Amino acid sequence: MAKSAGDASEFLPARRTIPTLRKAVQGCRGCELWKDATQAVFGEGAKGAELMLVGEQPGDREDIEGEPFVGPAGKLLDRALEEAGIDLGDAYLTNAVKHFKWRARGKRRLHQTPRAGEVEACKPWLEAEIVAIAPRALVALGATATRSVLGPGAKVTRDRGRLLEDGPAPITMVTVHPSAVLRAGEDRELAFAALVEDLAVVSAALEGVRGKHGTTGSRAT
Ligand code: SF4
Repeated sequence: MAKSAGDASEFLPARRTIPTLRKAVQGCRGCELWKDATQAVFGEGAKGAELMLVGEQPGDREDIEGEPFVGPAGKLLDRALEEAGIDLGDAYLTNAVKHFKWRARGKRRLHQTPRAGEVEACKPWLEAEIVAIAPRALVALGATATRSVLGPGAKVTRDRGRLLEDGPAPITMVTVHPSAVLRAGEDRELAFAALVEDLAVVSAALEGVRGKHGTTGSRAT
């Protein structure tokens, strides 16, 4: 396949473990987003994680630090997970798109939503992560992740908070991205509580299917 085909698939390594994928993603040229980003930001989390959380794309801090969910939205997500009874040590965090898309305003880099074609181009990385981690539960955070994980037919506004059939994990849910909670202004507390409520449904479903083996808690690095 020619590089102009606009797809990440030719950049994936033959052996697809989280470490080999994380290394290979730095060379991806599957779309144009690598050009303005500092680095690709791959997923991070527990090896054998029960829960995979998928966001949209790395933000400004994530792009610089090379880790997902280390900015303000990530901190809010940590708090929401904790309140929902989910141990961050049981989770793997990633994004639908691995390079930061932004535009300059003065010295600031403002987030730009990736186009559908860019999300599609990046999908082979996410699919490989899902296969490698094989999570019991997967939560898509926001519209971009929802489209990438479940296709254009799924809608956060309609489907959030309930367990969905035909997802890539036995337990699949969509909910809002934590950045939407940050943008909720006066309604932020309500939006946060609703996010916690959704995550608590996943936590309870995990509790229901949890076997005697538990999780390793070791990092997938
Ligand atoms: S955004 Fe995804 S498909 Fe595009 S260059 Fe980066 S890793 Fe490759």
